[in-house]
Amino acid sequence: MKRISRRTLLKSVPAAAAVCSGLFPAVSQAAPAKKVVIAGAGYGGSTAAKYLKLLDPSIEVTLVDRKDVHVSCAMSNEVLFGYKDFKDINIPHKILADRYGVKFVKAEVSGLDPKKKRLITSAGDMPYDKLIVSPGIDVDYDEKAGFDAEMQKVFPHAWIAGDQTLMLKSMIDGLKKGASVLIRTPKALYRCPPGPYERSSLMAEKLKALGGKLTVLDPNPKIMSKEPLFKNGFEGIYKDVVTYIPNAKVLSWNKEKKAVVTDKGTFTADLINFIPDQKAGRMAFELGLVKEGGKWAPVSPKTFESTIFKDVYVIGDAIDSDPVTEMPKSGVVANCMGKTVAENIAREFRGLEPLPPIIGNSCYSLVTHTEGIWIASVYEYDPKVNKIVVRNGANGIPEKRTVENGRNVKSWGANMLADTFY
Ligand SMILES: Cc1cc2nc3c(=O)[nH]c(=O)nc-3n(C[C@H](O)[C@H](O)[C@H](O)COP(=O)(O)OP(=O)(O)OC[C@H]3O[C@@H](n4cnc5c(N)ncnc54)[C@H](O)[C@@H]3O)c2cc1C
Repeated sequence: MKRISRRTLLKSVPAAAAVCSGLFPAVSQAAPAKKVVIAGAGYGGSTAAKYLKLLDPSIEVTLVDRKDVHVSCAMSNEVLFGYKDFKDINIPHKILADRYGVKFVKAEVSGLDPKKKRLITSAGDMPYDKLIVSPGIDVDYDEKAGFDAEMQKVFPHAWIAGDQTLMLKSMIDGLKKGASVLIRTPKALYRCPPGPYERSSLMAEKLKALGGKLTVLDPNPKIMSKEPLFKNGFEGIYKDVVTYIPNAKVLSWNKEKKAVVTDKGTFTADLINFIPDQKAGRMAFELGLVKEGGKWAPVSPKTFESTIFKDVYVIGDAIDSDPVTEMPKSGVVANCMGKTVAENIAREFRGLEPLPPIIGNSCYSLVTHTEGIWIASVYEYDPKVNKIVVRNGANGIPEKRTVENGRNVKSWGANMLADTFY
């Protein structure tokens, strides 16, 4: 019988299967443990940390975040309207440490020494063989138009979950009979394309019960995700409540008068939820991972390695997605990128070639508090265009919203949290 070498066998087995079957060889006792440092413990970073340890427990994995509890943006719209508790979207990082042996460090990340391969943090410098950075987003105020950080105290965005979520929730709880609300959606590219329209739908449901009105000001030419399904809600069950205005350019705002001035007129409301445009999280800029004048971190579409620094990978919302991928900025995509990078780093430490990414995105949204919709797509690397593109035909939405899909929103969310943080 022909003998198959261990190396040939390993090459033929996907990394996750190799780990489960014990085929990944243990690192020799003599070799120093490989060090992977992960900056940012949200959807991308936590997944990468967990899966690296699953793939190869001998790798020393250090996960750094400024907070010891992650507050999930996914499902935060349900918290705003009381369909979930705030505590349901709070996940302590201690879980990954206790269950998988990830070393969690609570610290502010502030810089990078790529030559010495050290991440600079408030808890000291951290040496790495590989660094994964998943900083998420920051809001991008247009200060020329008078928008600044003060604005979020009056017109909360609640697009980075935490205090902002609680602030907007208490304003929503305080809405009175006949109230008026304005939601300004962000200009693409932004975190979670369907998110602003899910929030608008749930707001419309609330205002319908109060006999109120909702104006949705959208700088984009159309609804940016699951369009026919959200449109059906705005023009159907919510037609007496919602005025949807596309291509609306906001020019300035007035805190005292609770007014937003746009090229389509001036709008006032009792409650304004101003979701600003977005850019990569500040950490990406501080680490030098964004080019001068840029807003997002450029990466290779094959590996998610930074095109600026070797052995540094950027994943999640912060990547410069437009030139390299058609994938949306979503938690599911960040989670899949975390797994892809973890697998390829574990392979490289074993002398194996990286595998090109194949990434699935499924995303559920509520249109009423009981009825849901979804979108599902598969993305793969296409060497002809050097880009991650939608696999032919693998992109779909349902015909209509249903109660069954509404129930699935809950199980989808629970599965997502479990795969990432538990
Ligand atoms: C309202 C809303 C609803 C959403 N719904 C969904 C959904 O249904 N499905 C879905 O797939 N996605 C959803 N998303 C999108 C999802 O939340 C993001 O795509 C996902 O969080 C991106 O993961 P990330 O790792 O890039 O960033 P994050 O998850 O934001 O993680 C970034 C981490 O970095 C840390 N950090 C940043 N800077 C520093 C620093 N200097 N030092 C230390 N730590 C730092 C932060 O504390 C944070 O923990 C939604 C988003 C919103 C706003």
